[in-house]
Amino acid sequence: PSRSDITYFGAGPALLPTAVLEEAAAALLNYNATGLGIAEHSHRSEIATTIINEAKADLVSYLDIPDDYEICFMQGGGSAQFSAMAYNFVGNWVTRKYKEVQGSESDESTVLKLKSAVENLKIDYIITGGWSQKAAAEAERLFGSEHVNIVADSRKANDGKFGTIPSEDTWNLSHDAAMVYYCDNETVHGVEFPGFPKCLEPGPDRPIVVADMSSNILSRRIPISNFSAIFFGAQKNLGSTGITVVIIQKQFLPQPSAALMRKLALPIPPRIFEFETIIKNNSLYNTLSVLDVFIAGRVLKQLLLQHPDKVQGQQILSQKKAQLIYKTLEAYPTIYQIIPDKAARSRMNICFRIKGGSAVEELFLKDAATVGLTGLKGHRELKGIRASNYNSISLEGAEKLANFISTFASQNGT
Ligand code: PLP
Repeated sequence: PSRSDITYFGAGPALLPTAVLEEAAAALLNYNATGLGIAEHSHRSEIATTIINEAKADLVSYLDIPDDYEICFMQGGGSAQFSAMAYNFVGNWVTRKYKEVQGSESDESTVLKLKSAVENLKIDYIITGGWSQKAAAEAERLFGSEHVNIVADSRKANDGKFGTIPSEDTWNLSHDAAMVYYCDNETVHGVEFPGFPKCLEPGPDRPIVVADMSSNILSRRIPISNFSAIFFGAQKNLGSTGITVVIIQKQFLPQPSAALMRKLALPIPPRIFEFETIIKNNSLYNTLSVLDVFIAGRVLKQLLLQHPDKVQGQQILSQKKAQLIYKTLEAYPTIYQIIPDKAARSRMNICFRIKGGSAVEELFLKDAATVGLTGLKGHRELKGIRASNYNSISLEGAEKLANFISTFASQNGT
């Protein structure tokens, strides 16, 4: 088959717009008539800096990011951020405690005061699926479970299964946590926060909120100023695999000296994970894949052209596509079972089972592929069907899937 015959619903990496890939293919051979391809130009060249700055400016415009935030491109995927976020926000917490103590780190009594503060160090995690669970596990590995507070775990009141978002009145937030971390859209379990959690909204004791938006960024409006940091791998809604974007409020960048962290028996991040360093170098502390930034930049330009009202336009479209698919599934309740709770259903990863189990699901996948609908196989551990409805799925693509879901039900229902 050719690209145009396929609507691909894989969970990631996702489809990229063909026009962007055509442009990237030409740029790989000869960028802007320079005789060198985009992946061959130095990351220290003006060409690279222009590409980085333009992508950042377009992201600021599309998401309406305030001036007191910095943006950087990193490597190591979303998974690297599980460690990076914990390291940097604990480091910044120590910086703040150090300021409060107003001593010198070479002075024993200052270190003793800080050591006693560190006894109360907490990093808060809200667990609603496999990715937030992994992030919390990484923090426990790096800092010890005594410093990790599980604010809520959706499996607790749901027979050990993910698929809900626990009610906020059950959340057990720490006082003065280094950060409160959650995953806005759980790609594997198809669970998405319907909006920003009420109890984390800015107030007198403003919580430091960090969110993983790897699988739903650029698909709905986000109140950026409620977050201290947001991160996302590019490979779902932004571009090709290879870069991860971090949006962070400037005030949270400062880090303590490595010597002080050692005295406090706290781990020190590798330089490459230190946001302060990466941002000081405009993402060019080490060799960055400028090709991936170029692709992300072209996707952003296309989104800005497609939606004059920026991310709001995409939000309306994403909602429409998801509703269409969920409504069609709901029309056949004896055949399809949507897995997550209605209030927590993801607009991006639509997870369901088919009556009759694996054998019928295999038939569904096979029949779908014959009409060009691919990538629908559920996660290897959860099985079933997962339709990933990222930005690259057009309304026509979602309609095609909805029609197929109806036809399959009519032909295979009892
Ligand atoms: N967070 C979420 C929500 C994801 O969906 C993924 C990957 O699918 C990750 C983190 C991990 O990203 P990576 O594979 O880039 O490390």
